[in-house]
Amino acid sequence: SVPMTYFAGLGASSKRGILVKGGNYLEALSKAGVLVFDKTGTLTKGNFKVDKIHAEKDISKDEILRLTAHVESFSNHPIAVSIVNEYGKDIDKSIIKEYKEVKGKGVQATIGGKKVISGNLKFIKDNNIQVEESKTPGTIVYTAIDGQFAGFITISDEIKEDSKKAIQGFSELGINNVVMLTGDRKITADAVAQKLGITKYKYELLPNHKVDEVEKLIESKGDKSLVFVGDGINDAPVLARADVGVAMGGVGSDAAIEAADVVIMNDEPSKLIDGIKIARKTKKIVN
Ligand code: ADP
Ligand code: MG
Repeated sequence: SVPMTYFAGLGASSKRGILVKGGNYLEALSKAGVLVFDKTGTLTKGNFKVDKIHAEKDISKDEILRLTAHVESFSNHPIAVSIVNEYGKDIDKSIIKEYKEVKGKGVQATIGGKKVISGNLKFIKDNNIQVEESKTPGTIVYTAIDGQFAGFITISDEIKEDSKKAIQGFSELGINNVVMLTGDRKITADAVAQKLGITKYKYELLPNHKVDEVEKLIESKGDKSLVFVGDGINDAPVLARADVGVAMGGVGSDAAIEAADVVIMNDEPSKLIDGIKIARKTKKIVN
């Protein structure tokens, strides 16, 4: 049974915009020893802007943008949303057939009879299409049309102002095991980790690789608990696997908010500092 004092702890955290779905999660938060963060939408805003469009010889930049926006139009990934926004015109959904999304890689469909594939380098290569890696910094969405590489769109995201404060705050709480996991490329992961002072991070991970990484970390956590913080896009299995799964309430999907044990209403990672402090205080009173 859950001691009465936990109700006070749950109330105190909810007043600060941290919804904890039970006294057992407050107990687990008080023992937080490993903090694992998703990157996109969690440490960064998940609000990508298009920086550059590259088109191969036989096609225009406008056509790359039009076809990529169409193939992305059924995806709710922040990358997809940004490209559809950049296109700005109406999407004719009636010309889109055989749509498929491959989580952590990209999307494909037939657009007005053309077979369009958009996603990361690995996704294009998985489809046996020859493509050269672009050295441009940022996140890159490559597009192939009818089996030929046709161009790419470079996009960039911004780090949340709050993220740096959060990472510093955890070390003040005595928690130094902070890890970032991302499906994005190395160059982007390096830049974000360096700006935030995160020394442990892994990149180019598929959703199931993120679960594997969390399982490895769980094995070495001792009597502490592992907290995973994500936005729910491509990381729902990790939210479920962690001792405490924390979802961003603003950008997170309904499914993520439901799967999570804790919801941060305003999407600020530093709210976790408040949550851990309240959990520790509650625990002291209970014991
Ligand atoms: P993150 O760990 O940064 O949240 P995801 O697992 O959501 O990343 O995605 C990993 C990578 O897969 C992205 O960086 C991107 O290269 C590619 N990707 C995923 N979804 C899409 C999409 N809808 N369109 C293009 N690329 C995508
Ligand atoms: Mg994600």
